[in-house]
Order: sequence, then C-alpha cells, then structure tokens
Amino acid sequence: MTASELNFLVVEDDDFQRRMVVSMLRSLGATEVQEAGNGRQALEMLHAGHARPVDIVLCDMDMPEMDGMEFLRHLGQENNAAAVIILSMLERVLLVSVEKMSEAYGVKLLGSVEKPLTLAQLEGLILRYKRGSSRARQLSDAVQVFTLEEIRQGMKAGQFEPYFQPKTDMKTGRLMGAEALARWVHPEYGVIAPYAFIPLLERAKEMDELTFMMLEKSVVACRTLQDRGHSLVISVNLSLTSLTDITLADRVTQLVLDAGVDPHSIVLEVTESAAMTDVAHALENLARLRMHGFGLSIDDFGTGYASMQQLMRIAFSELKIDQSFVKDIAHNEALRIVVESSISLARKLRVKSVAEGVETRQDWDTLKSLDCDIAQGYFIAKPMTLDAFLAFAESGAKEL
Ligand code: C2E
Ligand code: MG
Ligand code: MG
Repeated sequence: MTASELNFLVVEDDDFQRRMVVSMLRSLGATEVQEAGNGRQALEMLHAGHARPVDIVLCDMDMPEMDGMEFLRHLGQENNAAAVIILSMLERVLLVSVEKMSEAYGVKLLGSVEKPLTLAQLEGLILRYKRGSSRARQLSDAVQVFTLEEIRQGMKAGQFEPYFQPKTDMKTGRLMGAEALARWVHPEYGVIAPYAFIPLLERAKEMDELTFMMLEKSVVACRTLQDRGHSLVISVNLSLTSLTDITLADRVTQLVLDAGVDPHSIVLEVTESAAMTDVAHALENLARLRMHGFGLSIDDFGTGYASMQQLMRIAFSELKIDQSFVKDIAHNEALRIVVESSISLARKLRVKSVAEGVETRQDWDTLKSLDCDIAQGYFIAKPMTLDAFLAFAESGAKEL
C-alpha cells in the first residue's frame, strides 16, 4: 500500500515528533507532506489554496496558540473535506470525547491514536481512508453515497434486509437473541451498512417504510426461530422520528400480533437524539409499547444524548452500553469504571445490561467479571443473514 497519491498535513508543535510522523509518512511512500506547528498555521496553509487540497490531516491536540480542538472546530465549520487522524497523549477517555466532539462538528475522523504513533497504525489509518470507511462516514451524513431517490428505488425493489447479530447471555454462554440491523443488499455495490441510507431517510422523514419492513421481516424471523424450537428475543431499532407519529405503537403491536408473535419476544431499541422535537408523542408511544409487553432498550447508553435523563422518563427494560465504552475496556481503567457503574445502575433499576461492541476475549472476560448480563459483538459474531443465523442457532451457537 502506498500513500503516494495523497496530500498530507502534519500539525504538531513538537519538532521531533513532527519529524517522526513526516518520516513515517515518507516511508509509506508519501511525497506531498506539509507541516504546521499549531492550528493557526495549519488553517493558513489550508486557506492558501493549493492546487490539490489536503486529503489527510494528522493533528496533535495540545499545541500553543491554537490547539487541536479549536482547529477541528474550524475544519468542521468550513466544511473542509480533509479526513483527520488525531495524534495525542490524551487518555483514551479524553480521546473518546474529542472524537465525539469532532463528529459533532462534522469532521471526517479516520481515527485517533495515542502517541507514539506506530508505522502499522499509520498504515492502517491510511488504508481506512482508501477504503472510504472513515468513522465520520459511519456516524454522520456528511458523506452522501446515495441519493434519496436511489434509496427509495432500492426499497421498492425489496433490496433491504435485516441482518442478525447474536446476543449472548454472559452467565450461561447461551444464545438468547439477536439484534436486527438494516442492510441494503445492493445488486451492484454489495451489502451496504445503515450509515449510507438511514441519515437521509431520517432527514426526509421517510424512516417509516424501513422501520416497518425491518419489523415485519424480524418478526417473521422470530416466528421461524420459535417454530424450530429456539425461543429467542429479537431486537429491532426504532428511530425517534417514527415515534412522533402517535399511531406508531398500535401499528407495531398489530403487526407483531398478526404474525403470531408475543410482544415479549421483541425488544425495541431507541436512541435519543438532539433533534428530538416531539418528546410527548414519543413517550406516549413508548409507554404504550411497554404496556403491550415489548421490551424497550436504551441504545448507545452513555453517549451524549442517550443519558441519565432518559432513564427517568422511559419505562425501559434494557440498558445497552455504547461500544465506545466497551472497546478497550480490558486496558483502560476509566472505561472499566464507567461500564461497571452502568452495569450496577442497570441492576439497581432491575433491567438487563447489554454490552455492545465486544470484540475480544479480553473484553468478554472483563465484562463477565463485572457481571454484565448480555454481550453482543464481533467476538461472538458479526451481523449475518437470516439463513446464517438459523444455522448459527441450530449449531448450538458458540461455546463461550
Ligand atoms: P446500533 O443499534 O448501536 O447497532 C450496533 C452497531 O454496532 C451495528 O452497526 C453493528 O454492526 C456494530 N457492531 C456490533 N458489534 C460490533 C463490534 O464488535 N465492533 C464494532 N466495531 N462494531 C460492532 P450497523 O449495523 O452499521 O448499524 C449502525 C447503526 O444504524 C445502529 O447502531 C442503529 O442505530 C442504526 N440502525 C441499523 N439498523 C436500523 C434500523 O432498522 N432502524 C433504525 N432506526 N436504525 C438502524
Ligand atoms: Mg441498536
Ligand atoms: Mg448501539
């Protein structure tokens, strides 16, 4: 892999460290590398209007004059298309908040690394750029890959499917259910993840069709599994934009009952968002759904919006700890404390704790030692087609 076609800008006040990064870039084949000693200089360079814009900015956080955070704010506000790699000595928890901040500013973040940067890390991040899989792309609608019209056509053509990711009971190691995650099985481009279509549908207030398609297929899957003797719980994500429609709860309940499924076998996952306008309607829907027997999960718990506030308002039954806290948990004391208190909060409120983003045996072991109820993540399995999930359930899942 070569970095030769890319333009880089390294923003770092420490001369030695800056030179290290520059020479690493050069050793990976980079030829176009600019250097700045702080955010202000970097902005000036970006404004100087070179023939080719900068593709990747590598940026330190703690710098004189203009620090990395202010610099990222300007980048976001100017809609600069450059992707960013944060280099920092900040602790992981602080890096997580800088990552969230960048996303909030609309910065395309490739990733953040604790210094010293290694060649392998750098290579991996550049590869990520080349694959076009920046975190910002997954998390915001900054990069649009498809138009709304294309998405509508895809839905009409029935190209959207739920993929199922196993959820495992940590005490027994047994499969207890799955989360249904929307995928666009595109005839040309292959399997496409939700970041490429959900933000657009949300903004156009057209999530309903996808929500109901997902529900319908997930409920049918749940029924099929039960008919084969697997009493599993299926989780489906509910967008808050759908919850503003006051008829939603009844429509959802009807659909599930019509399929011959008990609402107790279905969990609805909800994440609060900043854009939530109609709180009263959403709460009415959620209360009614809970009354009808559905499980309610607070998704992405611990991230900005999915917060303590929700706990008091929603009669939820499951707390789903966001993956940004779970990743690295084995190595980071602060993350462990946050997760531990989320788990104990769940226990005190008598609801299930679920950890998402469990990627390694170490994550699993740490969570188990913290008495987490349920785990979901690549360590157990990635999201898969219904057929693959049926086979997974049939084969006795996975020994854990
Ligand atoms: P989410 O509900 O928090 O789902 C978990 C996401 O984490 C999924 O991403 C899943 O593939 C990913 N994931 C699971 N385990 C791991 C792991 O070990 N490591 C890592 N790095 N990632 C893991 P996905 O499928 O891309 O979905 C992204 C988000 O899109 C979901 O986040 C959910 O908020 C939304 N979404 C997906 N399907 C639907 C849907 O049908 N309706 C609505 N409203 N939202 C949906
Ligand atoms: Mg979810
Ligand atoms: Mg989540």
